[in-house]
Amino acid sequence: MAVEERFAYQTFRPGQRELAQRVYEACAGSGILLAEAMSGFGKTAAVLSGALAAAEETGCRVVYTCRTKRQIHRVVEEISRLQKKHPFKAASMLSKFDYCLLRRQRPVPQESFGWYCSFNVSNNLCSYFLNVPLVGAGMEEMVNGAVTASQTHSELLRASESLHVCPYEVTRLAMVQATVAVAPYHYVFDPRAAAVLFDRNSLDRRKAILVVDEAHNLRDFLRGIHSSTLTFDEVDGAVREAEALLMDEAAASLRTLREVLGRAVVGHASWLLDRQSILERFRDEKGTAWLQNLAFELSACSAAAWGSIAYERRLPSLVLRVGDFLAKLSAEGPVMVKWDRTMGLIDPDPVSGLEACLKEFKSSVLLSATINPSSVFSRSLGLAHAGTSTYEVKTESAVTVRTIVDKGVSTRYKLRTPEMFAKISDKIAAVVRGTDAGVGVFAPSYSVLGAVFDMVTKRVGDRHLVREVQGLSSQEAADVFDSFRSSEGSVLFGVQAGRFSEGEDFNEEIMGAVIVVGLSLPPPSPLLYAEYACLKRAGEPDSFLMLSRLPALRKAFQAAGRHVRSPGKRGMVFLFDERFDSQVVVDLMPSWLRSDLLVGDFTPQSLEGLAREFWAYQR
Ligand code: SF4
Repeated sequence: MAVEERFAYQTFRPGQRELAQRVYEACAGSGILLAEAMSGFGKTAAVLSGALAAAEETGCRVVYTCRTKRQIHRVVEEISRLQKKHPFKAASMLSKFDYCLLRRQRPVPQESFGWYCSFNVSNNLCSYFLNVPLVGAGMEEMVNGAVTASQTHSELLRASESLHVCPYEVTRLAMVQATVAVAPYHYVFDPRAAAVLFDRNSLDRRKAILVVDEAHNLRDFLRGIHSSTLTFDEVDGAVREAEALLMDEAAASLRTLREVLGRAVVGHASWLLDRQSILERFRDEKGTAWLQNLAFELSACSAAAWGSIAYERRLPSLVLRVGDFLAKLSAEGPVMVKWDRTMGLIDPDPVSGLEACLKEFKSSVLLSATINPSSVFSRSLGLAHAGTSTYEVKTESAVTVRTIVDKGVSTRYKLRTPEMFAKISDKIAAVVRGTDAGVGVFAPSYSVLGAVFDMVTKRVGDRHLVREVQGLSSQEAADVFDSFRSSEGSVLFGVQAGRFSEGEDFNEEIMGAVIVVGLSLPPPSPLLYAEYACLKRAGEPDSFLMLSRLPALRKAFQAAGRHVRSPGKRGMVFLFDERFDSQVVVDLMPSWLRSDLLVGDFTPQSLEGLAREFWAYQR
């Protein structure tokens, strides 16, 4: 079936048909396609149509993987629309924690949840799980409903509760049947979770087309799953948890661990630790398998489980955290570092297995709004020799964006003074006064956001201001979003790479300008040094660009494009930091962002004038 018939809408936007066709050709063949399309262009619908047409023609399935729940939700919305036009089976899967009905009986911290579920299942303590094979036709009906209808998450939970089955098991069985399966990165790239989808679910990678959304996040994601940190305070907390659950032996072993690690790490002069000699020290002092046994005991934690049930205590999370760290410490490969009272284990080459993983699939499509420069992008994912092809959707003519780089301010650490924050706030307030439209302000961190939010509030008291705070739940984030939308000309403060700078769409009616304040370069750390050293050894010429500058710029550009959501969109972007003023940065900008670019050290009055002039001209 042609891609046109697999497209959910009546007509294509500029560039969508070409992208769909390119994806179709890549998926019908084999190999890896890197595709760049700006945010809001409608790439999900285009990619789905191309991938689905190829999947049906070749007898394959599509696995569409996203970083966040919000992105999964968007893909599911597009699939539901497409299913109405042409029925096919599709399912999506979140983490087990999101589905669990048993945990309603007692609070379970997310970090202990994997263990909590497997403990209850393996000891026959979860009736929702035990009931799955006993409800026969009822279960079949639920699974069929899950693949053919766009059922909401809460509807699935309600239906599962009434049948008394685990909703995660319903979803897992639906994924087996689905032609398009949507899942978070974990189920594809984390070997521990991938078994659920590909082994237990008998989904054959060789007969699956993989689509990776927002693929510029992959390196960070892979670094996260292969790295671990542990502080001495956490080890002390684990001792207290073990004592509270009357796990006397484990508490004694944890005290020994604390003492041996303290001697090996605290007095060590360099940030780089010799992991092998630390393992040898444990072998010499405690015997060959002591550390591995302790890691197993703490991770399995069955004594703690029974203890927490018997004494109605909170499940231990620090005991599990120490167990996880020790398991990684004993495994092959990681580099060990330290800083302050923290130990870190890092895989200095987190993308080393990515090419092999992608090549297990029939074909792979990696999507991003910011691939430029594609050679660095490929190298940052370890795909330089993988024979990838690249496709860029040209969209700069579809939008009208004026970009102002203000080089008179900066959020460099050494320049973060009250005077600098006041200067930044004066400029933000000037832009806000210069437009009646909504404004998004995206800071590099919560601390910078907090500092400028209070100052801007005093300067533009007549405007409705809302802000993102750290650790918002989904409901709290929805409330902030609704509050921003409730009043015309509101100002939303968020952080770059946060919930609002990458997870939400702001259309023309509610946001007309974005101010990106500062560049969120990662702070220097031993974890970063170790990765730099690995790239240097491999002969990488652009390690600073790859690990620091480019990720920071991507966050800035993603935030800048938040309000550019459709063809014909008009808007302004203000980049407030001297570090945006360089030819290197301009060359790295997406074309829509640099097509009308003005650079200077502007006074608040001239910024207000520029904003007024732009909107007056546009009216
Ligand atoms: S099997 Fe399902 S309901 Fe039972 S503990 Fe695990 S996730 Fe929760």
